[in-house]
Amino acid sequence: MPDDRASAPPESTPKPDSGVNGAGPDSGAGEAGAARVAVLLPLPLERPYDYLAPPDLVLAPGAVVRVPLGGREAIGVVWDREPGGRRVPAAKLKTVLARFDVPPLSGDQRRFIDWVANYTMAPRGAVLRMALSVPAALDPPRPQIGYRMPEARATGDGGPGPAIRLTPARQRVLAEAKDAAPRTLSGLARAAAVSPSVVRGLHAAGLLEETEIGAPPPFARPDHARAGPRLSPEQAAAAAELRVRVAAGAYTSILLDGVTGSGKTEVYFEAIAQALERGRQALVLLPEIALSAQWLERFAARFGSAPALWHSDLTAAQRRATWRAAALGQARVVVGARSALFLPLRELGVIVVDEEHDPAFKQEDGVIYHARDIAVVRAHLLGIPIILASATPSLETMVNVETGRYAKVHLPDRHGGAAMPSVELVDLRRDRPVKLPGLGQSWLSERLRGAMTATFEAGEQAMLFLNRRGYAPLTLCRACGHRLQCPNCTAWLVEHRLAGKLQCHHCGHLAALPQSCPSCGAEGTLAACGPGVERLAEEISILFPKARSAVMASDTLTGPGAAAHLIQAVQAREIDLLIGTQIVAKGHHFPHLTLVGVVDADLGLYGGDLRAAERTFQLLHQVAGRAGRAERPGRVLLQTAEPGHPVMQALAAGGRDEFLRVETEVRASHGLPPFGRMAAFIVSCPDSAPLDRFCRALAGAAPRAEGVVVLGPAPAPLAMLRGRHRRRFLLKTRRDIPPQGVIKMWLEGLKIPPKVRLQIDINPYSFL
Ligand code: ADP
Ligand code: ZN
Repeated sequence: MPDDRASAPPESTPKPDSGVNGAGPDSGAGEAGAARVAVLLPLPLERPYDYLAPPDLVLAPGAVVRVPLGGREAIGVVWDREPGGRRVPAAKLKTVLARFDVPPLSGDQRRFIDWVANYTMAPRGAVLRMALSVPAALDPPRPQIGYRMPEARATGDGGPGPAIRLTPARQRVLAEAKDAAPRTLSGLARAAAVSPSVVRGLHAAGLLEETEIGAPPPFARPDHARAGPRLSPEQAAAAAELRVRVAAGAYTSILLDGVTGSGKTEVYFEAIAQALERGRQALVLLPEIALSAQWLERFAARFGSAPALWHSDLTAAQRRATWRAAALGQARVVVGARSALFLPLRELGVIVVDEEHDPAFKQEDGVIYHARDIAVVRAHLLGIPIILASATPSLETMVNVETGRYAKVHLPDRHGGAAMPSVELVDLRRDRPVKLPGLGQSWLSERLRGAMTATFEAGEQAMLFLNRRGYAPLTLCRACGHRLQCPNCTAWLVEHRLAGKLQCHHCGHLAALPQSCPSCGAEGTLAACGPGVERLAEEISILFPKARSAVMASDTLTGPGAAAHLIQAVQAREIDLLIGTQIVAKGHHFPHLTLVGVVDADLGLYGGDLRAAERTFQLLHQVAGRAGRAERPGRVLLQTAEPGHPVMQALAAGGRDEFLRVETEVRASHGLPPFGRMAAFIVSCPDSAPLDRFCRALAGAAPRAEGVVVLGPAPAPLAMLRGRHRRRFLLKTRRDIPPQGVIKMWLEGLKIPPKVRLQIDINPYSFL
């Protein structure tokens, strides 16, 4: 592992004149410490490099700078000097070129980056890269060109008469421009209902002049003083408690524990209002930001304007504007996916993690981290409160509440007196779906079909939940048994009938559905096995031809606009039945939806994952929570082949706390997280021979100590992914032994061969 001392960048041939002001290196000054700065680059490097500061530049830690690197230029951040560094002679150092005109990364932010790097064992520069993810945002936006009437003409005194004929279109432009602030070309053209060429023509003729206009502030200021909805006494009490903690401005973690529909969002809006009132920024992490149209509407209703958004669907221009606005404090509330945690928010006063239990908060590639966990770290380093909201908190969070590390604020009831839905188990072993004429295998039990009929007859809406995209998860040849498999992964190809394709859900590999079996050549023998949401939709069109149904899955929606559109259609009751994957589970509020059918409740239960039961419970509970959110009571039917399973029993009986208690006991007795620690190695390579050799070397060097267990190497369940062979190691340590130190010792002296990749996943959530 690299040590923590600064050094000179590679190829550091001194170039005395590379400073902005032409300043040379302080070779004469020798060890004049002030002129030396450590600069961390957003590259996979652990250590900052030493540079010289030009005498006229104040370069305090945190300053964002441009530096020479090899033959090119790079951005970097002046880092804190760590003690005991080996000194590179000043004559060998290059000079910082310039400082960007953005606020420096604050000390707490640098500590946060250090912390995340140490914890995840990712190179520090790779973590910095997440904070400096939009280099273009470091430069001020180019001023816009505006058009206005020259003063002499506007006041009507003097100037020669127009050199061009004043057509009605031109007259309209001049009328718009008279006595008005300068506007952009497109803005002025739009206002006058002409094409931009008309405006250009008037400028060429001297009737309009150009001027620079500053960019408008990208985000309106949310108004914390606007009245929110009238809170129920329980909500008001919860909100008051959160407000007090935000006003105190010290670190606390608070679980906002409330059943689905209890108004958690409205309540944490009060905490945000309090932060805004104190002149602080707020950050809200949502697991599925692209699908949160309803959330955004409610935010706008409460605060009078939209928040800044941060997620992967933003355009380059939006990312730039948002990063800058976050850094300059113009964006007061940022709502984002997990990566929003790395935005340089300088005045952060509260963090909210909504649906804190959601697996989407785990980042699985690059720097591997859990956004909820490091959000707590960021709040701690900053000394601000963090609110974790959920109807089904994670076991880890519940344990933290029980041990007193986290506070808890509770909302026991649904808002407006709506009752919790009744949850019934449908035993698939008894009420087995039959074969239907003209359809083949059905996936809906008679009881579920009956409930759907009754729902539609009552003019209400239903939802079918099946966590499987596409038409069928497996296609197999009835003649020879051959299964269609991804050439790059250990995975079946999933048929997507709407798109007319087979797709690998791991690497995205696409293929056409073959006419004959690729193995035995038989024709017409390929059969779809098992249901996906598309197949369910086909069944519905036969069973309920009059029902207006729609499929909602990540691949059937083309962008956030499509999701918002579909959600609106459900709200407007233009759709009777929504068929969806887990994206229908998230936060939507459909007042007329009274029936939820879970087609295969057992789907997530197996696979040897220590959180499988917990996650299934959380997901199904959340899906169930879509039913009966207004006056009419809701009903949930779970089709399961294992009605006796503790997850099914807990869902049917509403026994969340009892379920978690039993799960907690199991984890504690086996020393599983959070009672013990875990780390996974995923070792991969396109060729298996060097991979196996390296795995043997790793196994040979595996630590042997009290409280430390190493399992592996074992082929990963996804033994092949994107053409790479994969092996896994699992390291388990006692709670008082941080795995990072063990791993450092383990890897010391081991050389990772070329082409072999070693990913370290501290506290893994995926075991594939
Ligand atoms: P949760 O996040 O706990 O599931 P929400 O915050 O989404 O609950 O609230 C559920 C629904 O009830 C939303 O439509 C919300 O606007 C509404 N609601 C909650 N509290 C109030 C209130 N005090 N006044 C009016 N509407 C409310
Ligand atoms: Zn694949």
